Amino acid sequence: LDAPKLFDLAGNVALVTGAGSGIGQRIAIGLAQCGADVGLLDRRTDDGLAKTADLIEKAGRRSIQIAADVTSGAALDEAVARTEAELGPLTLALNAAGIANAHPAEEMEETQFQTMMDVNLKGVFLSCQAEARAMLRNGRGSIVNIASMSGVIVNRGLNQCHYNASKAGVIHMSKSMAMEWVGRGIRVNTISPGYTATPMNTRPEMVHQTRLFEEQTPMQRMAGVDEMVGPAVFLLSDAASFVTGVDLLVDGGFCCW
Ligand code: NAD
Repeated sequence: LDAPKLFDLAGNVALVTGAGSGIGQRIAIGLAQCGADVGLLDRRTDDGLAKTADLIEKAGRRSIQIAADVTSGAALDEAVARTEAELGPLTLALNAAGIANAHPAEEMEETQFQTMMDVNLKGVFLSCQAEARAMLRNGRGSIVNIASMSGVIVNRGLNQCHYNASKAGVIHMSKSMAMEWVGRGIRVNTISPGYTATPMNTRPEMVHQTRLFEEQTPMQRMAGVDEMVGPAVFLLSDAASFVTGVDLLVDGGFCCW
């Protein structure tokens, strides 16, 4: 066994959703640094995807930029088709596209709840579905969905029952899909980050929250996006060939206390 080769992603093509910012952007670059070519999907129309693509080119790998919304199954099918046509057969997927907001449950409008579910839960379902259709054809694949520690615990003081429920849904849905595809060469796992320094946490209600988190975290700090790369590469690579249906908490120990 050549141990370092276990983490080598050369010869793989990945699709990353939410690749225009934060965790998805950093992991997309990390996958390229490990040898993969990457389809970059985001609904952002600013220069987020272009920045990711630029850094991937600097890493010596190829990428394509896809402006699409994960709430559309047709758009995701099209994104997978484009990625395969331009980069090659899809074997890896990292689904990070997501939104977050907060509102007291008793006052929450139905549309706010529904939008959260559409993006964070249905969006991951549709992404996995489109990706797995290609991977089943290709005979192998590894999918990682970005859930959250909020799918496991309730963030003290943060009124986001819809977000928490969407992330709990992502974790259990991913386990369920892992079992559906376990005999057909596809692994499905989730990463559940704790608070991570990204634009998502610059919302006004997060200032107090992130301070609270830092105080209450055994490691006494937030995560940097760099710290999500190792867990993602591990779960996507052959290093995790016997790992499926797992939720990997990357939370500085928060959920232990
Ligand atoms: P971010 O806002 O920096 O990045 C999210 C990206 O997803 C953005 O580029 C956004 O345009 C894209 N996106 C949102 N809705 C989309 C849609 N419908 N279609 C296509 N793209 C869409 O946030 P982030 O912190 O990097 O979050 C990435 C993932 O990590 C999310 O699923 C989030 O819930 C999860 N997460 C974040 C934290 C944290 O503390 N930052 C903690 C736990 C989990």
